[in-house]
Amino acid sequence: MKPNNWVSSSQATELLSKQLVTWPLAGKNYKALEAVQVKSFDMGGFSIRAQFNPARIVSSGAKTDTQSLKERKCFLCPENLPVEQERLSFGLHHLVLCNPYPIFPQHFTIPTRKHTPQLILPQWNNFLELTRRLAPFTIFYNGPRSGASAPDHAHFQAVTRGIMPQDEEVAHFIGRELTASQAVSRQANDGRILLLTGYLRNGFVIQASAQETATRLFKTIYAALPIPPGEPEPMMNLFGSYYDDNWVITVIPRKRHRPWQYEAEGDDHLLSSPGAADIGGLFITPLEKDFKKINPELLRDVYQQVCLSNREVEEIFVHLHEEAGGHPYQMSY
Ligand SMILES: [Zn+2]
Repeated sequence: MKPNNWVSSSQATELLSKQLVTWPLAGKNYKALEAVQVKSFDMGGFSIRAQFNPARIVSSGAKTDTQSLKERKCFLCPENLPVEQERLSFGLHHLVLCNPYPIFPQHFTIPTRKHTPQLILPQWNNFLELTRRLAPFTIFYNGPRSGASAPDHAHFQAVTRGIMPQDEEVAHFIGRELTASQAVSRQANDGRILLLTGYLRNGFVIQASAQETATRLFKTIYAALPIPPGEPEPMMNLFGSYYDDNWVITVIPRKRHRPWQYEAEGDDHLLSSPGAADIGGLFITPLEKDFKKINPELLRDVYQQVCLSNREVEEIFVHLHEEAGGHPYQMSY
């Protein structure tokens, strides 16, 4: 059976407008977001935006160890959702919900109907569908130990595009690289993998016009990424956008869940549990003391701990190159 209940971006936008009125918690938190403090840092060729967002303590401070998960009621299971929280069905397996603790002016959580662990492969097709059907939004994925506050319940998020600096920076990067490579292109026209380095959150950008190509290229990257001991899949954050009839999927592999400062005491302490928003360049600080002390040096330190170095992604890229027997372009941001 083919589902025909795909949510459109205008239906999602309508849902949010309605919830701002019918759900006081959402109304209050979206209003508070309008006055949120933001600082921008020039990192030398790209920017990072820090956001002081006290309401996000719920997520950044969330305990995600197995014992804590067992003891809490899952906040993404349909039977535990607040009565005020309305839901739209997306295909057969997902629900579109307003996120009551927003980082973005439009912020949706998209959990599966069933309580099933956060993993990318079983939901990959839906990730592509969401990216295309909710096209004005950026869709992102937090791996179970790469920022997800509910690693036991599969979910995506859909957010206003252009708030994370990465949205624009990656679009610009692709435009520039494709112009430069046109004359010598030996790539298949329907898709390619670009290497993103010199960006602190180094990784790969897939551009594909066909769903099968996007899937094939993603699986090639997935297979080349290391799986740390005890992890169910390679650690990563994913970002999907769709424009000019193409999917643009940014894959940022991770090597660490949180920086050491998360556990530190005293002045060194930093309440940062980087997820896709942070990796996308919107660095969330729920505590004012952290917002005040954040600077390019500290940001650099955090990203270097949780993401792969230039050299590490370059080595993976060379491997992809050999596997594909093709000639993907070596590119730097
Ligand atoms: Zn659940």
